[in-house]
Amino acid sequence: MNICNKLIFSDLKEIQNEDDLSFIGGRPRVPNEIEIPTCKLCGSKQTFFFQVAFTEKQPWDGYTMAVFACTSCVHKDYFIPEMLKGRLKDIDIPNGFLDEYQKNFRILVFETSKGRVRKNYEEKIIFKKWVQERSKNPKVSCNKIGGTPNWYLGDESPSTYNKTTEMIFLMQLKQEFDFDILPYAPQQVDLGLTLKIEPMNKPYYRLFLKNYTYFLGTRDINNPKVYIITQI
Ligand SMILES: [Zn+2]
Repeated sequence: MNICNKLIFSDLKEIQNEDDLSFIGGRPRVPNEIEIPTCKLCGSKQTFFFQVAFTEKQPWDGYTMAVFACTSCVHKDYFIPEMLKGRLKDIDIPNGFLDEYQKNFRILVFETSKGRVRKNYEEKIIFKKWVQERSKNPKVSCNKIGGTPNWYLGDESPSTYNKTTEMIFLMQLKQEFDFDILPYAPQQVDLGLTLKIEPMNKPYYRLFLKNYTYFLGTRDINNPKVYIITQI
């Protein structure tokens, strides 16, 4: 069963606590033995964007997915996660692809109970807590976990990874989703009109060009892999 939970920002005072499990910004809550990812294109430490803890009646119950991306470099070929060639619907994702495509972003998946707030991480994005609110309508169009994806262009669900494990819909972020940053956070870099690398000069960071972003995961949680598709 794949229930649908809307991701709603909490109205409560926004100070990060150790027991907050789903949120954007602030400090990542990941196991101490996992290093903060570095960018394979430029070597910088990646920025923590958000994490969600999957809960009861969700396929990844007991696990958390944390999303990092580099905001220090920009490359025209890596604005969004690499796409497979050909017709994407029902495609089999080749073995290794879901590790290799993580160049300037990284998806960490771990047991929620092992997560710890990483106090030495320098915050860049403003912390906002997410509350998961059950929706009876699996097709509700919003930022959500589970239910059915609201495809913007058409269904691009893969069928399997390495022809063995089925791929399932985990969550989606709607387009134009901004991640507000702290005043002292370094500017995300962007490509200017002449393809010159320059600061974006915005009070937010963007993830994957703020496209509609879909996260799909392996049914087999023993070797969790995440496939990201963006649409615009
Ligand atoms: Zn980088």
